[in-house]
Amino acid sequence: MSRRQPLVAANWKMHKTVAEATAYMNNLGAQLGSASGPAQLVVCPPFTALAAVAARSGEVPVGVFAQNMHEEPQGPFTGEVSAPMLVDVGAQGVVLGHSERRQYFGETDRALAAKVPAALGAGLVPLLCVGETESEREGGETERKLRHQVNEALERVPPERLGQVVIAYEPIWAIGTGVVATPDQAQDAIAFIRALVGDRSREAGEEVRILYGGSVTPENAAELLALPDVDGALVGGASLQVESFLAIAHAARQ
Ligand code: PEP
Repeated sequence: MSRRQPLVAANWKMHKTVAEATAYMNNLGAQLGSASGPAQLVVCPPFTALAAVAARSGEVPVGVFAQNMHEEPQGPFTGEVSAPMLVDVGAQGVVLGHSERRQYFGETDRALAAKVPAALGAGLVPLLCVGETESEREGGETERKLRHQVNEALERVPPERLGQVVIAYEPIWAIGTGVVATPDQAQDAIAFIRALVGDRSREAGEEVRILYGGSVTPENAAELLALPDVDGALVGGASLQVESFLAIAHAARQ
């Protein structure tokens, strides 16, 4: 049995006002009670709701991650938010390199090579997203793409800290499409990513938690979360309702 605790994270993207986020946390707390079960649960609200959600996370056993950050601690970067600022409002981690950031906002592997160690240095858990496009998969380029993304984003993380990073394998063709990776596709890609981390540090390869993301629902979660190398899920659409997020969380077994 794996000693890695499953993690199920809710990526709210650009959804929920402070009032809606607070109502979600109250509902989640009421349904969860004091124990979250075998999986660690995390919600990733927009910046504007982070403080309100973090304020509730003392009573609700759920972690709070941001959805992005700048690599510098402060400076003339209008519109950006830094790791120390996220810590200041109570975040414990941060999603980095989500495909929507890469696709619409020019996020690069170079920038991620600075962001991942900056997050760790500030005491945040980096949740690094990687994944191939449909045409890359069809062209047999999946492993090349994953190797490039993982190696570049983690290149400045010292081997002894690699195990503290969380990685989400999110094939871009599966995000928000309703098309989910097959169990074989998810297992193969995630085992490949684990081996990449293991090439840097055998121990870190065993420790690092690697999630699957892309159209996870209560219906398909149990099969995906039972795969030997899959340590949880990053959930978008289905995390916006407490009931479906909890149904996915309950599918995770330690
Ligand atoms: C995501 O945005 O990280 C994601 C996996 O979205 P969805 O679950 O909606 O495919």
